[in-house]
Amino acid sequence: MMQVDNIFEMPGAYVLLMELSAIYSDDIGALGNVKLSAGYYLYFGSARGKGGMAARVRRHLKINKKRYWHVDWMTLAGSVKKVMLVPGGVECELRRKASALSGLTVPILGFGSSDCNQCPAHLLGVKGNGLTTLEELRLAVTGHSYSVSSFFSTTAAQPSTV
Ligand SMILES: [Zn+2]
Repeated sequence: MMQVDNIFEMPGAYVLLMELSAIYSDDIGALGNVKLSAGYYLYFGSARGKGGMAARVRRHLKINKKRYWHVDWMTLAGSVKKVMLVPGGVECELRRKASALSGLTVPILGFGSSDCNQCPAHLLGVKGNGLTTLEELRLAVTGHSYSVSSFFSTTAAQPSTV
């Protein structure tokens, strides 16, 4: 069995299940003024750099950061509830597989997909609290789901320096 830490550090694709607890409206970069209803959303991304998927996910989870990607506005306005990692995965393939599931919507054309010519958006609205859909997607793509807190726990390999 693969060690969790190894998966975290691998390159691949990830899905953030996010909640907006209230209607959100803001000017988001080149998208202009956007409005999102309260509810749950799935964001699809890829990380190929140093530190792998976990490094990117930790950036998404930071509550203090400069807004750069469209999703930065979302992660600052709402909260990440769950994270799925797909080692070696590609965000657009994940998004395409997700579109076979029911109940997903495209709230804002082009959100998160400025550099992509295959997806209507990398942010999808999801029904209910999104957990059922995320689990269906996890089974379809052989992903791994994690709580947000797993990205903050210290690794077993590092002795703690109190
Ligand atoms: Zn795409």
